[in-house]
Amino acid sequence: MRITALAGGIGGSRFLRGLLRAAPDAEVTVIGNTADDIVLHGLHVSPDLDTVMYTLGGGIEESQGWGRSGETFAVAEELAAYGAEAQWFTLGDRDLATHLLRTQMLTAGYPLSAVTEALCDRWRPGVRLLPMTDDRVETHVVVPAGGDEDGAAEKAIHFQEWWVRLHAEVPARRIVLVGADRAKPAPGVLDAIAAADVILLPPSNPVVSIGPILAVPGVRDAVASAAAPVVGLSPIIGGSPVRGMADAALTAIGVPTTAAGVAELFADLLDGWLVDTVDADAVPAVEGAGVRCVAVPLWMTDVDAAAAMARAALDLAEEVRAR
Ligand code: GDP
Ligand code: CA
Repeated sequence: MRITALAGGIGGSRFLRGLLRAAPDAEVTVIGNTADDIVLHGLHVSPDLDTVMYTLGGGIEESQGWGRSGETFAVAEELAAYGAEAQWFTLGDRDLATHLLRTQMLTAGYPLSAVTEALCDRWRPGVRLLPMTDDRVETHVVVPAGGDEDGAAEKAIHFQEWWVRLHAEVPARRIVLVGADRAKPAPGVLDAIAAADVILLPPSNPVVSIGPILAVPGVRDAVASAAAPVVGLSPIIGGSPVRGMADAALTAIGVPTTAAGVAELFADLLDGWLVDTVDADAVPAVEGAGVRCVAVPLWMTDVDAAAAMARAALDLAEEVRAR
């Protein structure tokens, strides 16, 4: 079975780890979000690709769900001693090796997809990990400028500055995917969607993780017209984003922070949608939009729980395929 999944960082990778346990013989292709990528100290950092690579490759710091295990911070301390920016984005020493190599290869002219493949040679994540595009796409967030929340003045900041430095506490007026309209899907992306037996939308941030992948020209259409059933899992449980601040991103695009609200955002793509058991009352609304909806536990407390979610998603895919 060929499974293609679109994924952000933590939510996506935890789900994928469960998927590999639930379907050990499947050929899994992951299309990763690169709109969170940022250049720091001259280095190209791809947070979501690395979270997937480290999580599936056994190198993740489990306690936080991102970064390398056994990390040290000597370089970050030295940079701080110089007063170097941006101190709000901490890069560990082990993690830096990844960014050094990535930058070295990009500078030598390799596309990000080739670089990602090379990095995965070490980590053996058990999936084919593709960046959504080899082109530069950056999520920017438009916030009020000058501390006046109601004022007309505004500025666009990099997503990471809003998310990591400002903890998404400053309300976003708009979210802009800079470069998305001119980006091309990376090699293999459209083929992986067209050739899939099942397409999965893991519980990743719908606005800044899944959203940018679908915004790469051709990707949303490919998913919509794919022969395979498309099944998603709600990243929202009981009106809360579980981990992180996805509610702030949803509010910015005018979507309610509910399991049904996110389903509606993807309704044109979805054949099936899983909501948590506490959101069982959302099932009729989702089914009213023409999407088969089932309530199952969606807390990824451990790999077994994520595997059970993956099994439920694959079961739902079989059910809607038969319809
Ligand atoms: P990021 O790029 O690291 O922010 O990770 P993703 O975009 O892949 O996933 C982040 C989203 O995962 C969060 O906004 C949560 O809504 C969702 N999430 C995290 N943990 C869980 C969980 O245990 N269950 C569910 N259903 N969603 C989760
Ligand atoms: Ca991310």
